[in-house]
Formats: sequence, structure tokens, C-alpha cells
Amino acid sequence: MGLFTKDIETFDDLFVHTLKDIYYAENQIAKNLPDMISKASDAQLKQGLEAHLKETKNQIGRLEQVFKLHGVKVEGVDCPAIDGILEEASEVAGEVSDKQVLDAALIAAAQAVEHYEITRYGTLIAWAKQLGRDDCANLLEQNLKEEKAADEKLSKLALSGVNRKAA
Ligand code: FE
Ligand code: ZN
Ligand code: FE
Ligand code: FE
Repeated sequence: MGLFTKDIETFDDLFVHTLKDIYYAENQIAKNLPDMISKASDAQLKQGLEAHLKETKNQIGRLEQVFKLHGVKVEGVDCPAIDGILEEASEVAGEVSDKQVLDAALIAAAQAVEHYEITRYGTLIAWAKQLGRDDCANLLEQNLKEEKAADEKLSKLALSGVNRKAA
């Protein structure tokens, strides 16, 4: 992605660019989740984040399949949005001293990540279908489903005790 060249010309280029964006994001998430897991105290939260780390690794595999189906090289492009979300997460976590308040902060940070992923996958699925690539759309749908489930699980954890304990 050069400053003086425009690399995105067609709708297909835009799809591939955004695929590279979420591929980078998923890899950054996989890199950062262990730190969040180590900071979590609530057993269910720890377990939930661990389960989602496993899912995240599978999601990366599905994205690699999409690249292959689409006939393009597997690679990421910098996503300043996910870098910012993850940077903010670790910054805030570093400022919280109480363990139970930290759990609430970790849930909020994890949900910001899930919502970024949900918006990207929603767009990619619509674009894949428009491009006539239902095969790509199906794989992306599986990732989206997991992100939505992870988000709902985090909400439940927050509302079923983590927030109350933090307060
Ligand atoms: Fe993901
Ligand atoms: Zn193509
Ligand atoms: Fe991005
Ligand atoms: Fe996720």
C-alpha cells in the first residue's frame, strides 16, 4: 500500500484488501489474547477467553482457505483500528489495580474487539455474495457466528456477576 499509488481499483480489490485487514486483525488478536487470559481472575472469563483463542486460531485457518479459494496470496495489511483497540485494552488493564474491576475492564475490551470483527465479517460476507463467491461467504459466516457468540457470552458474564462484583 503505497502513498502515491492506489492499490484498490475494483470491488474485488476492495474485498481482498478487507480480507487482508481481518486476517491481520485475527493474528493480532491471537497474539494478544494470552495476555488478557493471564490478567483475568474470574474462572469463567478465563475459560471463555481461552476457548475463544482456540476459535481464533481456527478462524485464521478459515481465512487462509478464503484466500486460496479466491486465488490470492495469504497476507495481512496493517489494521490501525484493531491495533488501537488492543493498545487501549492493555493500557486500561495496566491502570486497574482491583482484580474484579480488571475483569469488568477485560470484558469491555474483549467486546470492543468482537464488535470490530463483527463489522468486518458482516461487510465481507455481503461483498463475497455480491461477487458470486458463496463459498467464501460460507467460511466467513462461520467466523461471524463465533464472534457473535463470543460477544453474547461476554455480555452474559458481565451481567451475571462480573459487574456486580466489580461494583
Ligand atoms: Fe476472530
Ligand atoms: Zn477475485
Ligand atoms: Fe481495519
Ligand atoms: Fe473474536
